[in-house]
Amino acid sequence: MDTIRLAIVGYGKIARDQHHPAIAGHTGYRLDAVASRNAEVAGVANFESLEALLEEGPEIDAVSLCTPATVRTAQARLAMAHGKHVMLEKPPGATLAEIEILREDAQRCGVTLFASWHSRHAPYVAQARRWLTTRKIQRVDIEWKEDVRVWHPGQAWIWQPGGMGVFDPGINALSIATAILPRPFYLVDAQLQVPGNCQTPIAASLDFIDGVNVPIHAEFDFRQADTPPIWDIHVETDDGRLTLTRGGCEMLIDGQSQGMQEDAEYAGLYERFANLIHQGQSDLDVSPLRHVADALTLGYRHTVDDFVE
Ligand code: NAP
Repeated sequence: MDTIRLAIVGYGKIARDQHHPAIAGHTGYRLDAVASRNAEVAGVANFESLEALLEEGPEIDAVSLCTPATVRTAQARLAMAHGKHVMLEKPPGATLAEIEILREDAQRCGVTLFASWHSRHAPYVAQARRWLTTRKIQRVDIEWKEDVRVWHPGQAWIWQPGGMGVFDPGINALSIATAILPRPFYLVDAQLQVPGNCQTPIAASLDFIDGVNVPIHAEFDFRQADTPPIWDIHVETDDGRLTLTRGGCEMLIDGQSQGMQEDAEYAGLYERFANLIHQGQSDLDVSPLRHVADALTLGYRHTVDDFVE
């Protein structure tokens, strides 16, 4: 296969802002179709559903699923049953169990399944992981705060079961932490603030420890109004303090910037997806989602003011 003929399913904010430009900028892909109930894209075949696309559409090799997690597993299973490679936006599912079914489906259908974690492709994530390998970690502090009205405008699904609330961005921090820290860690306490009219938290305070009792603290908040977002991870070690800031676009050691680069996360994701397809492999890491599921299991819920869009 030379050029990968691709379709986007669910043409919402992330498809528009990131997937479409990243696909257009990658010579290994051609966007041939879009399946979305309320959106149309010029220059490609448009369908109201994945079912219609698979039945009536042009021949494609792969789909990129940009719908909310609660509907994505059924779409992924359908696409794989039709022999299509699948890229899943994060999180890879609404439950952990369904992802094991997807794993089996991908094997049985002989297709690539890629559970994407876009934040892991931020410019300094790989460098941070290398820097930490030779140091003794003493504590980790994660701060992930943004304005839900700016970053998730009108997304009612985020407040419904499976929508994850503040864990929708918070899982990005966990995807970086699980990539750069050398040991697995687990949750020991979670305090969740849930608006009275919502099913999912607007803020979360989490405490983890790893296997040698290194503390990892995380603060997630969706109420960062009128101030820039904070997407920072600080790691204290026996040999200096590493900070990944701007979601991994800048790295500092003891407060000194090691450089700053433009975000090219989705270019990295599509490069990885193409490589997996060409190598006949899948990549399905659930570790960030496992921490969120644990927080929703172990978390103490505090009811806070109703959320008004
Ligand atoms: P969004 O703006 O709501 O877009 C999702 C699209 O999926 C909608 O526009 C809708 O398109 C379709 N959709 C929604 N509910 C559906 C349903 N029940 N059945 C079928 N299609 C449905 O959301 P988004 O921000 O793009 O997020 C989508 C996924 O990307 C989420 O998993 C999110 O975590 C992830 N993500 C988001 C961001 C971000 O900054 N927003 C960043 C990275 C990753 P139609 O109505 O046209 O069908």
